[in-house]
Amino acid sequence: MQKFNLIDTHCHVNFAAYKDDMDAVIRRSLDEGIGMIAVGTQSDTSRRAIEVAEKYDGVWASIGLHPSHLHKQEFHDEGELDSVKTRTEVFDPEFYRQLVSHPKVVAIGEFGLDYYHMPTNIDATQVHQDQINAVNLQIDFATEFNKPIIVHSRDAHDDQFKILRLAVEAGKLPRRGVVHCFTGTLEDAKRYIDLGFMISFTGILTFSKELQAIARELPIESIMVETDAPYLSPPPHRGKRNEPSYVKFITQTLADAKGLEYDQVAQQTTENAIKFFRLTI
Ligand SMILES: [Zn+2]
Repeated sequence: MQKFNLIDTHCHVNFAAYKDDMDAVIRRSLDEGIGMIAVGTQSDTSRRAIEVAEKYDGVWASIGLHPSHLHKQEFHDEGELDSVKTRTEVFDPEFYRQLVSHPKVVAIGEFGLDYYHMPTNIDATQVHQDQINAVNLQIDFATEFNKPIIVHSRDAHDDQFKILRLAVEAGKLPRRGVVHCFTGTLEDAKRYIDLGFMISFTGILTFSKELQAIARELPIESIMVETDAPYLSPPPHRGKRNEPSYVKFITQTLADAKGLEYDQVAQQTTENAIKFFRLTI
């Protein structure tokens, strides 16, 4: 018997958006039998993800450096509450080495390529190269510590796939990874899956008929669900702060898209998450 009905495989309860009520948000989710992976995006939020995971059964952590934190920038995405300010960091294996042995750290990421949010004051080729370098460092790190990776890929699936394929061909990433917040094409999804990767859907699935059509074609064994909270709230909470308990709405959409029962999809995606992250329940 599994203890969890669902796992939100990607959320940021470790972010400042929850500084006033994090405990209530996490409890609300755990009380519904919904576990979660708190995902770091740079050094502070990675450390914080572990602190949060330490406090709760049913919360695990991922550590890594997101491409938007390689260069200082500020942007405001449609549908997001506040503008996002980032700063300049480089991936420092020594820093992450101190964190990775913690028993609650189940993955490396999120990291990857983001050709959508580009700093305007730096040459694009340089930005791409910096992102690729950070990806390769984190692939090596995940390989060394035998962890799966959480990949953030936006407007960059061709380059992203090439890097992952090269890594796999070189014998790296034995535990592969998940392409989080998937918004690519069916062909993109299929080639990631053929390479042994998982595909994860956020609340974007609830309002994208295109993504629903893609989800319909993919094997359920390769799919996980996530909120990416505090961003991307699904209906009926669109425009408000997202939280892990809302992963049930994404699961419902996935079930509808695939013509399956909610319980079946909940159980399968939860099993997928437990297996993929090797969660000890
Ligand atoms: Zn995220």
